[in-house]
Amino acid sequence: MTNQEIAVNPDDRYEPVIGLEVHAQLLTRTKAFCGCSTEFGGDPNGNVCPVCLGMPGTLPVLNRLMVEFVIRMGLAVGCRIAPRSVFARKNYFYPDLPKGYQISQYDEPLCSGGTVEIDLQDGTRKRVGITRIHMEEDAGKSIHDLDPDTLVDVNRCGVPLIEIVSEPDIRSPHEASLYLAKIRQIVTYLGICDGNMEEGSLRCDANVSVRRKGEGRLGTKTEVKNMNSFRNVERALDFETRRQIQLIEDGGTVIQETLLWDVAQNVAFPMRGKEEAHDYRYFPEPDLVPVLVGSEWIAAVSKDLPELPTPRRDRYTSELGLPRYDADVLTTEKEIADYFEKTLADLTQRSGGSLRENAKSVSNWVMTEILRVVGERKLKLADFPVAPEHLAGLILLVKNNTISGKIAKEVFEDMISGGGDPEAIVRSKNLAQVSDVAALEQVIERVLVDHQAQVQKYIDGSSKLFGFFVGETMKLTRGKANPAMVNDLLRKRLDTLTGKR
Ligand SMILES: [Zn+2]
Repeated sequence: MTNQEIAVNPDDRYEPVIGLEVHAQLLTRTKAFCGCSTEFGGDPNGNVCPVCLGMPGTLPVLNRLMVEFVIRMGLAVGCRIAPRSVFARKNYFYPDLPKGYQISQYDEPLCSGGTVEIDLQDGTRKRVGITRIHMEEDAGKSIHDLDPDTLVDVNRCGVPLIEIVSEPDIRSPHEASLYLAKIRQIVTYLGICDGNMEEGSLRCDANVSVRRKGEGRLGTKTEVKNMNSFRNVERALDFETRRQIQLIEDGGTVIQETLLWDVAQNVAFPMRGKEEAHDYRYFPEPDLVPVLVGSEWIAAVSKDLPELPTPRRDRYTSELGLPRYDADVLTTEKEIADYFEKTLADLTQRSGGSLRENAKSVSNWVMTEILRVVGERKLKLADFPVAPEHLAGLILLVKNNTISGKIAKEVFEDMISGGGDPEAIVRSKNLAQVSDVAALEQVIERVLVDHQAQVQKYIDGSSKLFGFFVGETMKLTRGKANPAMVNDLLRKRLDTLTGKR
């Protein structure tokens, strides 16, 4: 059954009830319980040691930074940080898990409670509850497509993860995707995860059920796994919602099972019974003492939290007076917001005036030119060839009428290819705007002499020819004439000719 074959509109009489479990790989240099590197893409089975392989006699040692990162996340979404939390063993056998268990947290997680706010299309804000956030280690990876046999790479064994479990507050596949995007935004702002879904640093599983609208009781849920992009999350949840509705409409019953999203076929398949039948037999991890987190530690982490995306976005609209759209785009990623604010601060310091007065012109440059080039060249903003202070310099040159907006675009292209100071480029290429009255009057005179027929028409009443004269004047100065002055001088000169003065 594919999406297309299901005719029922899931929005009509049913509502989906969705909860997400998001795993984020933490950006620590070393693994959760040993000193091995967490780097992605190394030689298979290169970053391993007896501890992360779970050899007999070895003992795990907790990575303090992992705990700190999880506290950071917990505080960012308003969780309660447990003063005492406990590691547990989650037992299962799988070829990519040499130890036979994962170290995780079970009934005493580090963080619980909390909320994440998402912005719905109708402009309202929705709160999605966070049930818990706990820390755990990753398993290895089975590779099925390089050899007729299955290969195993255990580099990922022991890499620190955070699992963020939401309440079943999500009511549509689109909301799920918005929620996941918000989580991604928060973990990247906090610097605890790179948010890269292709490399698996951010993964998401979903619990899905449907019920008739207005009904309080929850339906039987299924778990959907293997949705490795925002688009797939939406497609998979849409598929599963429709499937369950159709099943109920046909008189069937939803059974609790785990489904794997198949990207190529656009279908979610049930996992085979054996793969799914885990009995984890959680028990307290005997090799690790409980994690005690004192209030001083929490206070110190709290003090170092960066401004989060939603408050930052709100500040851009309220304090800087930016349109909501601009604020959204500029705060999508912390790097962009930082770049924008550095440019704005620099421009304001050099040009005077308030941040609010300068915000829109900086926003325009960042949103159109900077993000365009970043997108075209697949750059990270950190590697962008134009430093914020140079962009500020360029905007200042426009602001004080040294160059026109059009010339500024040219200078910008030079800055991208050669880098460097816009003022130096303007000087060396002699691009400065002509703002000299006598010089401009001379050019205007030339334009009027060259186009006497049009001048006569203008005198006879074709006032829209004014733009033509402006255009010709700009052309003669190769775009360097100060447009405001050209307008002004032309107006005066033509008024004299029509006898208005
Ligand atoms: Zn190791």
